[in-house]
Amino acid sequence: MLIKTSVDYRKKTLVKLLVAIEKHEKEISTALFADFKKPEFEAFLTETYFVLSELKLTIKNINNWAKPKRYFPNLVNFPSSDYTYSEPYGKVLVIAPWNYPFQLALLPVIAAFAAGNQVILKPSELTPNTSQLISKLLSEIFQKEHVEVIQGGLEVSQNLLAKRWDYIFFTGSVAVGKIVAQAAANHLTPVTLELGGKNPCIIHESADLRLAAKRIVWGKFINAGQTCIAPDYLLVSNKIKQPFLENLKKEIILAYGENPKISPDYCRIINEKNWERLVTMLENETILLGGKSAKEDFYFAPTLIDEPKLDSLIMKDEIFGPILPIIGYDTENDLEKTILNFEKPLALYVFSRNKSFSSAIIQKYSFGGGCINDTLIHISNSKLPFGGVGHSGIGCYHGKASFDLFSHKKAIVKKANWLDIAIRYAPYNEKINWLKKALKWF
Ligand code: NAD
Repeated sequence: MLIKTSVDYRKKTLVKLLVAIEKHEKEISTALFADFKKPEFEAFLTETYFVLSELKLTIKNINNWAKPKRYFPNLVNFPSSDYTYSEPYGKVLVIAPWNYPFQLALLPVIAAFAAGNQVILKPSELTPNTSQLISKLLSEIFQKEHVEVIQGGLEVSQNLLAKRWDYIFFTGSVAVGKIVAQAAANHLTPVTLELGGKNPCIIHESADLRLAAKRIVWGKFINAGQTCIAPDYLLVSNKIKQPFLENLKKEIILAYGENPKISPDYCRIINEKNWERLVTMLENETILLGGKSAKEDFYFAPTLIDEPKLDSLIMKDEIFGPILPIIGYDTENDLEKTILNFEKPLALYVFSRNKSFSSAIIQKYSFGGGCINDTLIHISNSKLPFGGVGHSGIGCYHGKASFDLFSHKKAIVKKANWLDIAIRYAPYNEKINWLKKALKWF
């Protein structure tokens, strides 16, 4: 049975969390740096600030979001007043990944708690410093029966999934997403899956080449490419491929210097397994820039690859690292052949000054979300729902969409007693003719 909390209590608790995160901001970035050398700027922008702004939005709107919503009644039910009540699902399991370990763990927890659920969070085992800090922080703010953190790896995750939940929110890989969906199906538990995919990024001949290169370099190499919505590969019009490549190389050097290993702004690969996976991807490929790596600290340089084969290792799965393959195209048919070779991606980007071209692209392909003339930034507007489609995910969240995601909308019709129109009751006799006539007026 769900342990209920009032909206007022939830709001006060979220204010305490806000104050605690602001107070511990330095500790959060230190933990993220210890885990994979995430630069302080990126830790603030993509983790702490992100969580703080969602918290502020939730605190400001929770009363309104939680209130029963009144709807215009259906005239055949006259006289009545119609509502939806936001009801918490109950016990929610949140399983989080390592790549934005603070943000991706906290965002669903905040929303699930705000909607009145009890939450168990399983953060990633690959970021022990951040996961430990999250555990400490949340245990100081929340009562254990409202929000609890359970740390651990595969076995802990599997044990949790074997239990019965009222909602499961999972962020991670497609492969594990399928395991989660199967576990949820055993109890018909609703599930949100925030997964990944191979995100195409199209550079049309009309694009502003310098700006496109700058924005792609930022979106690809932030977090060393370990971002679910990072451009996975570029599709560049052959008409501008050479000058665009020069711009790309220039922007990488401007951002990270000639030797990115010593740049304070460039983070590391999370662990040996992922580092080795990326090293293997470079075999038999044409490297245009980068390609260097160092095992001792899992460094991997921003790397550009020219014209990989579609059946090569690099084009098989999501890269999830700082390698950017570049494929030239001549016709829209070429684009189609490559993009439709993969499952529906989590993001798609198009750089073009030709409005009809970009508009046609975003309407033609199915993908989670994306940008015209930029990368990643669609995730930052909390008014826009964030999530995948097909293999890149099920369900979406952020802002009000998060509160709604964790609430069952219970529909209620309050019928008045002062009038009772008899037409619907048996015996029906000739009432059908009356009913058909009456319905024509509604
Ligand atoms: P992952 O799927 O390996 O792990 C995610 C979580 O699942 C971790 O907490 C892990 O302990 C747990 N887990 C791992 N194997 C499991 C199993 N067999 N059974 C049960 N639980 C298991 O993902 P990851 O490596 O942490 O993260 C990278 C992936 O996540 C990428 O594919 C990326 O695209 C995706 N991702 C998606 C989003 C999004 O918002 N859509 C955000 C970040 C990352």
